[in-house]
This record gives sequence, C-alpha cells and structure tokens, in this order.
Amino acid sequence: MGGETCPECSAPVSPKDRFCEACGRNLRVRRTPVGGPGSQWPPLCACGGAEFDEDGACEACGRARPSARDRVEFALPGVAGISDRGRRRRRNEDSMAFGRVRGRGTAVVVCDGVASSERAEQASQVAVDTAADVLLTGLQSGTLQSARDAERATAEAVVAANAAVARLARPEAAEVAPSCTFVSAVVTDGSATVGWVGDSRAYLVAEAGAARLTSDDTWAAQLVAQGVLTEEEALTDRRAHVLSRWLGADSGVTEPQTVTFMVETPGLLVLCSDGLWNYVPEPEDLLAALPPEAIARRVAPLEVARALVQVALDAGGHDNITVVVVQLRGGGGS
Ligand SMILES: [Zn+2]
Ligand SMILES: [Zn+2]
Repeated sequence: MGGETCPECSAPVSPKDRFCEACGRNLRVRRTPVGGPGSQWPPLCACGGAEFDEDGACEACGRARPSARDRVEFALPGVAGISDRGRRRRRNEDSMAFGRVRGRGTAVVVCDGVASSERAEQASQVAVDTAADVLLTGLQSGTLQSARDAERATAEAVVAANAAVARLARPEAAEVAPSCTFVSAVVTDGSATVGWVGDSRAYLVAEAGAARLTSDDTWAAQLVAQGVLTEEEALTDRRAHVLSRWLGADSGVTEPQTVTFMVETPGLLVLCSDGLWNYVPEPEDLLAALPPEAIARRVAPLEVARALVQVALDAGGHDNITVVVVQLRGGGGS
C-alpha cells in the first residue's frame, strides 16, 4: 500500500480516498473531458504552438485549436479505454467513463452522441458521468452482490442518465433534442452484467471463442429479427443505423436491455461505439483484430484497445471510435 498519487495533480493519495484532497478529483473515475473552453489537458497545436487567440486559432500557424476530446487514453488495473475522433468527423461526440472499486469490481459506460441531435457530445458525456456514478456508488456500497442487484443498478443508471440527457433539451428545438446511445458493464467477483440502449455494443472474447452480448436497437435489427431483411442486407440498408431506442428527451426509454454471465474462464469484455464495430461486426472479426495472446492476459488492456482503435482508423475512421477493454480473470475475481 502507499505510493499512489493523484493523476490530476500528483498529490499523494491513499487507496481508500474517493477524492483527491488537494484538487478534488474523483480518483475512481477515468472519463472523457468535457469539450469546449476550459476543458482539461489543453493540447498543443499540430505545429507545436501553445498560444491560441480568442477564436481558438493558433497564434503561430492559424490552425484551429485541437479539442481535448480528439483522443483520450486511460488505464486502471484490469481496464483501459480510448476515445478517438476518427478521421472524418469534426468532433468526437462519443464519451466514456470507467472506474474500479478495489476488491469490489469495475464499472464501465460508453455512450455515442447521435450526430443528428444538437450538443451530442454533451449528451454522451452527461450520460456516462451520471451512469458511472450510479454504478460505482453501488459497487462502493457493497450492494451489488447478485446478478439481480447488478441488473437493477444498471436499470437505475439508465433511468438517471436518460433524465440527465433529457434536461439538456430546449423545448423550442425538440426535434434535435440532445441524444445518445448507451452501453454499460458492471464486472464483479465472478460475474458481469451488461446493459444497453441503442447500437453501441459489448463483446465477450475468451479462449473458447467470441460472442456479441448486445443486440442493436435499430430498425434494421428489428427487420432482421422479423425476417424481413438478412443480416447482410441490413448492413448496407440505409436504415442500418437508424436507432429504435436511445437516451434523450424524446426517447420514451424506461429501461435497458441487460444480460448477465458468469466469468468462468479468462477473457476480455469489450465495450465499443459503432465507430469500431462497423469495421469488425462479427465476433470472429473482433477476435481476429486482437493482438496475439490478448486473451491469455499477456497484453495490457490499453494495448488491446489501441490495436482495436487502430483497426478502425486504418479502415477509414469514418466515425468516432470508442473502445473500453476489461480483463476477466475467470474463476472469481475481476
Ligand atoms: Zn489531485
Ligand atoms: Zn499551430
């Protein structure tokens, strides 16, 4: 014990601390920074310039100031995540938040702001912050002992996140009310619960193979389920990405879909936005994109996340890409 420091200000902290006494940072959570002026970690210009004028143009070369959300990477023991703007979009409207309560478990939330809604990055950020807080509070309090507890907490997290996103809406602009997708995981001793609304996904990868844990809340997926479209037709259908469920003022969503599984063998749980899975839709595709030995835990989760994000960037990076990887030990422990 001892020797830990705050990631924000480097002040010494105790493993028992929830917040840094020096700067107030929540020590359990890693999250995408809120965009806009005053965001944390202001990055340098591509030219190396550090001075920007009032309009955010580099004083040296005139380029627009890069957003602190353009790419973020975070790691905690057993879990790591990356959120990347990709190559085509002007902003990163995905958000992620994750945290770990020592001896209790890990909680992860990934949300993808709906591009056709306004302030989509605020929607996804407030959703991950709100939901991660609910899930981590549950882990901290020791009330997530069973699958039913974890599923109830996941439902509470979705209700709270939906209400928080809904509060961003302007009554006079209801048709573009801020909206986002949602996928979460609570990984405790021996089991994991995944919850979702929309088309962000979770995959389980183990030595025995890979599986997709979520089913997309899209019109195309519904048409496939009804036998109107084949899986292949759905991928190219213009309705493929039209959501049938989302979080936001007009969502009408009252609960997520959830799935709970026992963690019996070592593996990886991968949560991602469609900016990744568009390029590796099938579980076998995702498996093939992993670094060798990734499942046997010889590769750090951050390296796994980097490899997956790179696959999407190399394939064109048409959308924002967010990937969070959780190591599953199997046979108890997380
Ligand atoms: Zn601090
Ligand atoms: Zn510059």
